[in-house]
Amino acid sequence: MIPRLRFILPLIAVAAFAFSDPARVETDSYRSDQRIARITWKAACRISKYDCPYKSPKVRRSAILGEQGIRGAYWAGSPVVWLDKPVHGTQLWLTIFHEQVHYIQTANGVGDDWGRLLSCMMEREALDFTNAYALELKAPGYVRTLKVWRSLYNCDPATSLGTGMDGNEDTYFHR
Ligand SMILES: [Zn+2]
Repeated sequence: MIPRLRFILPLIAVAAFAFSDPARVETDSYRSDQRIARITWKAACRISKYDCPYKSPKVRRSAILGEQGIRGAYWAGSPVVWLDKPVHGTQLWLTIFHEQVHYIQTANGVGDDWGRLLSCMMEREALDFTNAYALELKAPGYVRTLKVWRSLYNCDPATSLGTGMDGNEDTYFHR
């Protein structure tokens, strides 16, 4: 009896794995992302003080972001913010929040042609607002410094003058 039970148990484990539907897992994760997004959306509207006439943008994930070395992205005019696949925990909340700030900025007409200077201003706002939210979440370890802002978005006037700050690169999306 015991040897037979030993044989059956691994079979059950394999069967359970085979019946777990990857599409269903995807759906659960998707729903969880939208639930978090509805919470961070209210915080983004409140902290940014911009008008928030629209519903929270949908959140979708793509591994292509990670391949590009970025966690989140937002394209002007889109009702969707994008996240890299493995983003989770506090980083997930803050990344959705950050991209939602870009959604709110463009919805308020701050800019839809993202030249370097405007891009740096928008990223600076997003940085300040996201830092404020990190402190609200009692996660000071996620606060980003201005040094990070300068290097991550190429926003250092000393090194970007004539090349970056007043140039027109990276106008396609915000990360
Ligand atoms: Zn950004």
